[in-house]
Amino acid sequence: MTDNLLFILLVLVLSYFAIETISTTSYYFINNKKCNIVEKFEYNGIYTGKTILIIGSVHGNEPAGHYTLKKLKGKLDRKEISIINGKLILIPSPNPCGVQYNYREIPGGHDINRGFPYVKDGTSRTENNQKIVDYITESQPDLVIDFHEAYYFHKMNRDSWGSTIIINEPKYKKIALKCTSALNKTITNKKKHWSVISHFDQIPGSLRSYCNMMKQGYILIETTGQRNVQKIDRRVEENTIIINTILKQSKMIV
Ligand SMILES: [Zn+2]
Repeated sequence: MTDNLLFILLVLVLSYFAIETISTTSYYFINNKKCNIVEKFEYNGIYTGKTILIIGSVHGNEPAGHYTLKKLKGKLDRKEISIINGKLILIPSPNPCGVQYNYREIPGGHDINRGFPYVKDGTSRTENNQKIVDYITESQPDLVIDFHEAYYFHKMNRDSWGSTIIINEPKYKKIALKCTSALNKTITNKKKHWSVISHFDQIPGSLRSYCNMMKQGYILIETTGQRNVQKIDRRVEENTIIINTILKQSKMIV
């Protein structure tokens, strides 16, 4: 009896890994041009002001940024929100197939967030990277906001960066603290509170490292969200609080 159970368990485990391997392999071999289409959407204010570029979900298995920007785009298109000063640029789908199939990388196995140029005038590893680099170069934004998701709350697990705002330069501390204060007012459990991080390793090829090298204003947002550790609606709500706080502080919206 025990042997039979063990055998069934073994078959189940092996089947699971076989299915995982087949689906991952078939994802990596998808050859569809639409996986490399990266669109930007621009919203100009009535008056001049700051330019902010927001990018959602370069990692497809971290979809909250993508859904947040899609929702925001809808509101801007329907004129439920208007930009008063400056320019807002949205890139809601830098990794469209990753979001569709729930994979971190793009087909081909490339991680967009390791494919940005390592040196000034260096090359991008993928078309998706190059589009993002082009959009940043053309628009020279005052700030890039990059949405990612980690697997657990940083205050409870120091190995994960969930619920943190990571800044490259001290000048962004004030605005980041405004965001965490607005967020934490909505969270009763203090262990799930957001915090601001200013010491964080530079990972070569990441958008953060690229912006740092180019002296480009940049903020990294990490919700606690991978594997649905918090519901998607809540993660989108948290991202929306962050965006609204930054746009208000920058006088782009009222
Ligand atoms: Zn990520």
